[in-house]
Amino acid sequence: MNIIDVRGLRMTYGTKVAVDGIDLQVDEGEILGILGPNGAGKTTTVECIAGLRRPDAGSISVAGHDPYLERAAVTPIMGVQLQQAGLQGKLTVREALELYTSFYAHPRDGLELVERLALAESLDVRYAKLSGGQQQRLAIALALIGRPRIALLDELSTGLDPRSRRDVWDLVDEARAGGTTVILVTHLMEEAHKLCDRLALVDRGRITALDTPDGLVARSAAPTIMAFTPSRTVDNSVLWDLPGVTDVRRHGDRIELSGDDDSVHATLGWLARHDIRAGRLRVTESTLDDAYLDLTGEPVLTEEN
Ligand code: ATP
Repeated sequence: MNIIDVRGLRMTYGTKVAVDGIDLQVDEGEILGILGPNGAGKTTTVECIAGLRRPDAGSISVAGHDPYLERAAVTPIMGVQLQQAGLQGKLTVREALELYTSFYAHPRDGLELVERLALAESLDVRYAKLSGGQQQRLAIALALIGRPRIALLDELSTGLDPRSRRDVWDLVDEARAGGTTVILVTHLMEEAHKLCDRLALVDRGRITALDTPDGLVARSAAPTIMAFTPSRTVDNSVLWDLPGVTDVRRHGDRIELSGDDDSVHATLGWLARHDIRAGRLRVTESTLDDAYLDLTGEPVLTEEN
């Protein structure tokens, strides 16, 4: 069943078209990742689903409600972590937890959550005095404290250290196991691959691909690259004719073949039938990073670039 149903969503800021006709259906209990270059319209889409912005056109249904017009029906079932948390700087971590606990009918134990997110020692620290990573972890705790039916998480773990990132991933996994449906905006391919059931690739306000992480990788121009040094000369044309081969390159006596899974079987079979040994054989699977590059034409953003 679709708990979130977005149809023909369009949103402009002045003359800038941020979202240009997005359709998106999210099943109850799934984790849907949204990937895409900066400025693609990901946050705007999530803010519309959260009911924080009124779309210029299209419809959004969240558990059967219009999130903008029926905020009161949607707020108790939704947890939201946005890039700007919007918390008052004077609130302490403890006060923020108490406040958010009071919003929900069956909240989690806030103290257990802050333990898990290494914030227990900052309970009496004001929000404005927390580090960026601590503020982000608090925002995640507040998004999940209400055991929401739906969690919208924008750039979940960008900027967090590896340990915190794993803690946060565990929490999201657990929330899903408890029945929460998650929409997750991310620039991190590892996060997308590890956590998400499906990924929507957004580019210039439109969804350009929607598939499982493995499905997206399989759409990559060359899911598999195979390199070897044949024990005797092999014609390029023979290799090009093998099933699944999409590219053949030579580096001296070394051959590099691109293709799908079939290309590996076909090549090894052909070599064996002709009694040719594939020396120093190396087969590399393409990754979500490669697929992202193929599909958007842009390299993956990492913490370093
Ligand atoms: P990022 O990965 O950088 O967070 P995004 O995919 O989330 O980007 P959005 O924040 O939705 O993209 O922005 C989409 C477009 O709308 C961008 O061109 C952005 O400059 C523009 N935009 C976003 N918010 C506003 C605003 N409040 N006023 C004017 N333009 C805006």
